[in-house]
Formats: sequence, C-alpha cells, structure tokens
Amino acid sequence: MKTPMLLAAGVLALFQACLQASPLKPAMEVVVLGSGGPRAFGRAGSSYIVVVDGRPRILVDAGPGAFLRIGELHLNLAKVDTVLLTHLHIDHSADLAAFFNARGLTSDRPIAYHIFGPDGAGLFPKTSRFVDLLVGDNGAFAYQKTFGADESFAVRDLAIGLNSPRTKIVDRDGLAVEEIATHHGDCPSVAYRISYRGAVVVFSGDMDASALPNLVQLAKNADLLIFNCAVLDPPGSPSQLYDLHTPPRKIGEAARDSVVKSLLLTHIAPDVEGQENAVRKSIRASFAGPVAVARDKLRVPVGK
Ligand SMILES: [Zn+2]
Repeated sequence: MKTPMLLAAGVLALFQACLQASPLKPAMEVVVLGSGGPRAFGRAGSSYIVVVDGRPRILVDAGPGAFLRIGELHLNLAKVDTVLLTHLHIDHSADLAAFFNARGLTSDRPIAYHIFGPDGAGLFPKTSRFVDLLVGDNGAFAYQKTFGADESFAVRDLAIGLNSPRTKIVDRDGLAVEEIATHHGDCPSVAYRISYRGAVVVFSGDMDASALPNLVQLAKNADLLIFNCAVLDPPGSPSQLYDLHTPPRKIGEAARDSVVKSLLLTHIAPDVEGQENAVRKSIRASFAGPVAVARDKLRVPVGK
C-alpha cells in the first residue's frame, strides 16, 4: 500500500496534468503592461503582451513603463519575436529599445524580429526608419546589436490610407495577425486582429471616429475588443481631442456593430478614470456584453 506522502504526490501530479490538459486553459491571453497614455499619473504608457498557448509571443506597442511591468510580472521574453506597433507616438513606442535590450539578454541564440507598424507621413517616420533610427547601424543605440544575442530586424511598413485593404501579415503555426489602417489625427495608425485556435482579440490602437468602419470590419465577431478610451463624450473633453480619439458612446456602437463578445477599455486618461460610471453608462447604451477597464498587470483570457 502506498504511503500517504506518495498518494499526496500522486494526486498533485494528476491535478497538474489536468490543469495542463484542461479545456479551460485559454488559447490566448492578453497581459496589460501599460493601460495609460501620455499623462504620467501612475499607469504605464500603452503596451501589451499576447500569450499564446501559455507562452508570451507578441508585443503590442511599447509605451514607457512596459520594461518595468515586464520585470514585475516575471514575463519570459524568450519567444517574443513579433512586435506590432499601432502608431509611433511616444506613449506607444518609447520603451521599444528597452524591450530589445531586455529581450537580447534572454537568449544566447540569434533573434529574428518581425516588426510591423504604419508607413510614415508628415512628422512621423515610417516604422522601418523608426527602428533604424533606434538600433540601425547609424542609430542612437547601434550598440544594441553587439549586446546580448545576435539580432536581425525585419520591419514591414503598413499602408495607412483608410481605403487600403485589410491585410494578413502573420500566418504561422495557427497564429494569424491581420491589420487595417485607422486614423489618429495627423499620426499614421493601424489596428490589429490576432487569431489563434478560434480565439480572436483586436487592438484598436489610438483612433478617431472617422476610422470606425475599418475597425468594425476588422473586429467582426472577435472574442475581445481592446479599445483605447482617452476622452469623454462631447463636450466633456477638449474639442481638439475628438480629432484624435473615439468617445465612449461611439466605442459602444462599434462594439455592438462588430458583434464582439467583450470589451476592454484601455489607454485610460485621468478624466475617464474619474468618470468611469458615466463612461460605462454611455457604452451600455449600445453594447450589452461585458465591459472591463484595464489596469497595468491585468491578465485577460481570450476565447474559451
Ligand atoms: Zn496614445
């Protein structure tokens, strides 16, 4: 007969095996590194890690503070080789070099990055030039390529005209990423849809309401729509911000029209944080599904 200790060890092993095989384990999970925007009031700038089959795989935006949150969460970066940038404002991209720096120290094997972001216009460089300015041969941090693992950077600049077609940019091992152009004032911007084993999450990025038809098309039937909520309904925020961001009432309409299952509000501004009940009521007017407000270090399962 087995001793109680052996029996206990056997039960524990069985429990762990059940957990690993559990159908409840989500195909994907989103870890919020930063749920804020450009104002410094305690939230890191916008950034997320997408966990696929239990492993961190994709970095979506790299706002200031992402580096710190990665460490606080003890996230293993060893498989994070895909970076999706919604746009190149500082509150979404300032920690990109810090991420490369940290990731380079997680591996003694070569790292081949696949980086996606918008084409350039006006004051904003195209994403390939942005990465080059950081870590290219003549970049500010050219030394990064000599620090830690050998690194290569394949950067694809994405079309930014609102009439550009929705495009699949990653299709590998069952993991698919699609993108479509959005509109964020004068700053080129795109939204992303990530799919894996039937689970779908969509990131709006920062966008004004003129891009909602594109976003609604991209988000159709998604399990989770992560929508940046940086303003109150008019006239609650400075009028010029409505040329940059989508107000809550229209976010609710977009969630309804795209028939998403759930909504996560992020890129939270101080006045939005202070009037959360009014924001929720405004969204509830159109969207009946679950609505959550992001905070740094929140983990959100996607799909079943
Ligand atoms: Zn922003």
